[in-house]
Amino acid sequence: MSSTPEESIPELGETEAVTGGPDTLHVYWLVGGSCDGCSVAATGATNPGVEDLMRGNVPHLPKLELHHPVLAMEWGDDYVEEMQAAERGERDPYAIVIEGSVPNERLVDEPGGYWIAQGEEDGDPVRMVDWLDRLAPDAAATIAIGTCATWGGIPSAEGNPTDAMGTTDYLGRDYRSVLGLPVINVPGCSPVGDNFIETVAHVLLYAADMGPLPELDDLGRPEWLFGETVHRNCNRGSYYEEGDFAEEYGSEKCIVELGCWGPVVKCNMPSRRNIDGVGGCMNMGGKCIGCTMPGFPDKFTPFFKKPPGTLVSGTSTKIIGGVMRRLRHYSMDKLETSRRWGGAGYGGDLYQWMHRRGSNYDERRYPHPGGEADD
Ligand code: SF4
Ligand code: SF4
Repeated sequence: MSSTPEESIPELGETEAVTGGPDTLHVYWLVGGSCDGCSVAATGATNPGVEDLMRGNVPHLPKLELHHPVLAMEWGDDYVEEMQAAERGERDPYAIVIEGSVPNERLVDEPGGYWIAQGEEDGDPVRMVDWLDRLAPDAAATIAIGTCATWGGIPSAEGNPTDAMGTTDYLGRDYRSVLGLPVINVPGCSPVGDNFIETVAHVLLYAADMGPLPELDDLGRPEWLFGETVHRNCNRGSYYEEGDFAEEYGSEKCIVELGCWGPVVKCNMPSRRNIDGVGGCMNMGGKCIGCTMPGFPDKFTPFFKKPPGTLVSGTSTKIIGGVMRRLRHYSMDKLETSRRWGGAGYGGDLYQWMHRRGSNYDERRYPHPGGEADD
């Protein structure tokens, strides 16, 4: 690493980004073992959208210059030249984003062989890990998007021929960016795009000396996004509380007995939803399979099996919640009757009689739908 965090923060604090100097942050998008789903998720963000950051539409935030292998305007040598310029220090400040798991290239013993490369230099592919080695030390921030880049994800599932790992496992827990930040992890398979863009915006605000240090938990996750379990914000939580569980998909009830891991998984999907406040796992009828967690996928498979502990928690909730549900229905019946109806309920004989006596309803002009008046 070329400088310590203490030396670097004041440097960015004087920043010309605040005082009107470089108002652009270059972002280099490195791709490891990935399905590109995180790119799709990021481009679906709306609050703000990638395009807002790239156009400099968000007040006080530096403009984002995104060098993405699919979205970049440059291609071929020009695309590679941009990354080389960052390495030469000609694009400061810059950040890197890692999508997909980092493969262990040491396993490749074939001369010239490699698992994953991005671009070429002198006709030879440049391995993704080489870009990571070259760009991470002087990056203002290193952000891992998605569960593959954060913890290894699906490529690191049992078997794992490439010895795939997360970015922190590759760079080490001691890694610090120029801003003094560890690898910032925004997990999810795929993640909520707004979680990612909001994190980038937060880092930009910090880099521009306009906002506080992003609060990260021990695993480098944005605390404000991953501090709560799925269950805490699930729209089916009241069914859980009353021990009212779905026996098949398609029900609006709690799906814990169908294998939902929400009570022990950290993710804000139910409250933030998928794109622009729409969709989301439980909101759309799906259960939580723990895709944001470091143990995903192996510790959550087989996905269609009840999580261990469901028997104990589910049975006790059924008993206590069942009593509560009955008491609530009893109260509800009482509360669904107005004083005017004298406790008879809507549709009761007493209500009908009182309605005809007490209202201005003219039955000669508007015959009562319930039948003849009894006078
Ligand atoms: S569906 Fe899952 S997250 Fe939602 S209330 Fe039930 S157990 Fe909790
Ligand atoms: S609710 Fe569960 S399955 Fe859905 S995104 Fe969050 S962690 Fe993944």
